[in-house]
Amino acid sequence: MKQIFEHSKSFWVRYSDYAIVEDNNGIKYLKAAENARPDLYDPIDSLEEIVVKALNVGRICMGIDRPDEEKDEAVYQFVKEYGFLGLMTAIPTTPRFLSNDNVFLPKNQFIKRETMEVFEYLAHFYPFERPNISKNCAKYTVVFEGDTDMVALAWLADGRADEVHLSFQREYSERLDWLRQQFVDWAFTMTTVFFYYHDYDHMSEKDREFYRQSMAAYDGITPSYHIELKKDRPVLMWNLNSLLQGIQLMVCKMLTDDDNPVKMCPGCGKAFIAKNPADKYCSNSCEKHKNSGGD
Ligand SMILES: [Zn+2]
Repeated sequence: MKQIFEHSKSFWVRYSDYAIVEDNNGIKYLKAAENARPDLYDPIDSLEEIVVKALNVGRICMGIDRPDEEKDEAVYQFVKEYGFLGLMTAIPTTPRFLSNDNVFLPKNQFIKRETMEVFEYLAHFYPFERPNISKNCAKYTVVFEGDTDMVALAWLADGRADEVHLSFQREYSERLDWLRQQFVDWAFTMTTVFFYYHDYDHMSEKDREFYRQSMAAYDGITPSYHIELKKDRPVLMWNLNSLLQGIQLMVCKMLTDDDNPVKMCPGCGKAFIAKNPADKYCSNSCEKHKNSGGD
């Protein structure tokens, strides 16, 4: 299952706590809490677990009868555990946008424009304090400031773009509604797969075609990678420019896995990793409940 990521490494930043903060327009953001400490971890080590959690956050966010507070709480808990999705570097055509005058945006669900001036774009992720960037055409300088933690983070020479390091900074924020939307997208993909096979025999060919097209719209942005020559052997390093990219690739990989695919349990509705490809339910109790006539 994990072959493509086996022996590979990356790192991502999460803070010890986050807060929901509103801007002047009433838009809610998640942002590192005051005095929260940054911490590095390797998301590759637990990518399967991260994917299952992300799908389950998405399920909660999809629930039309669930209160907003519950949805925000689910997103908050995810971010507290794994850090931001890295939307700022995931949305544009390239994560290295600072050297251009404009950011180019492929079709996406967050910003309905094809292009946007760099500082206008940055303001979506730095709504409370502008990062210290001086820019003269293609030349730019980012001054990473703040406490020693911040400066240390910025100096992690890992070959990734300055823009990725900007998304690790304390003032960086992500919109709650955008985060929710992204989680919904992943869960939607899982439920599409579920219903396609569950209802296949009862569907018209037109409906089947509709399902197939919704899946085709779920396209991939592949993270880049390089080989690092470690002391004893070469290691595949994933340059995750966003956690989003890693999850996106892994959701596809896990939904299509031959041996242990990720599935949605028809009993409780939760995402789970099947021990056998034919497993339908996440647990004996979900299966028993179903067989005993309950639902
Ligand atoms: Zn279940």
